[in-house]
Amino acid sequence: MKTEAKDLTLNNSLKLRSKALNYYEFNSNEQLNSFFKNSLDYEDLSIVGEGTNSIFPSVFHGTVLRSTNESITEALNSDSTIKVGAGCNWDHLVDECVNNKLFGLENLAGIPGSVGAAPIQNIGAYGKELSQFLTEVEVYDLKEKIFKTLSNEECKFGYRTSIFQLHKEFLITSVTIKLEKVFQPYMAYKDLENKKIDSSKEMVELIRTIRDDKLPDRESFPNVGSFFKNPVLSQNEYDSNEKLHKLTNVWREGVSIKLSAAELIELAGLKGIKINNVGVSLKHALVLTCTGIATQKDLVFMTNLIRERVKNDFDLDIKAEPNFL
Ligand SMILES: Cc1cc2nc3c(=O)[nH]c(=O)nc-3n(C[C@H](O)[C@H](O)[C@H](O)COP(=O)(O)OP(=O)(O)OC[C@H]3O[C@@H](n4cnc5c(N)ncnc54)[C@H](O)[C@@H]3O)c2cc1C
Repeated sequence: MKTEAKDLTLNNSLKLRSKALNYYEFNSNEQLNSFFKNSLDYEDLSIVGEGTNSIFPSVFHGTVLRSTNESITEALNSDSTIKVGAGCNWDHLVDECVNNKLFGLENLAGIPGSVGAAPIQNIGAYGKELSQFLTEVEVYDLKEKIFKTLSNEECKFGYRTSIFQLHKEFLITSVTIKLEKVFQPYMAYKDLENKKIDSSKEMVELIRTIRDDKLPDRESFPNVGSFFKNPVLSQNEYDSNEKLHKLTNVWREGVSIKLSAAELIELAGLKGIKINNVGVSLKHALVLTCTGIATQKDLVFMTNLIRERVKNDFDLDIKAEPNFL
């Protein structure tokens, strides 16, 4: 099992200049097993999917692994549970489900990236999250060199978070998802209220249209979607910070208060700024775009600048959503 050198500039959605010195694609658990017979140290490994939520370095000095397993199979003894290979494209999966009358994922249509990366930050949109459908994740434990199965509970899902963000030794090989046989549209979300749809396919198209209208076009303005997580505070943290009281986008979520990172960035006067070919989108302040040759270093500079300005103006830390590999 040989690795190869590979230019990854077109394999990350910010189009950052990047290359891997040792790159390896695997299609099955058997291939992965035999690859690790050579006993690689997991700390020298990086796992990539489609690079739509990652900041790639200029050079990956260790080994870069990517699953190309795109299989979608029905789980045994069930007609609404499917097991999906980590290399399958998420949005393709959404179409496959709807075409096969398996429902639930419609609000998650249009999210870029691979199925294998979807549990990492518990992808979510328009009031739905992956964790509402996922039953199991199969991983290869890079430390122990064995396959394991994690239940939904063991994944410790939260808002844009999971156990996989701490346990980098888990390489996800497949995801098992339970869906519904009856289509029940979920419209209880700001942008969806008062919208009329007659089928799951119309729902998927509606979601994709709303997304396209909001976000900058990825071809002309390479980006990784939302760059910062919306801050979630306790009531007490919110009440005691007067600087936050002028914000207009403030949502109650259970006992917590969620703020809009886009509004914080906009009020900090950063919308539209551009340094070293990295800019804050004029269309959506939460999106950073690369419009020329740029590297991870340029992204780090812009991330730090935004975090410092928001901290200064609002006495609040905002956290980046994408993964700096
Ligand atoms: C335009 C745009 C819109 C977006 N909108 C949304 C949205 O609405 N909601 C949302 O939640 N996200 C959104 N995202 C973020 C992105 O789509 C998701 O995070 C997606 O799951 C990333 O998939 P990927 O294959 O590109 O992951 P990558 O960027 O390749 O990897 C992301 C992370 O996962 C790790 N990883 C990848 N594959 C595996 C694996 N098999 N096993 C273990 N670790 C792995 C990587 O090491 C890295 O840390 C958006 C991104 C873009 C560009």
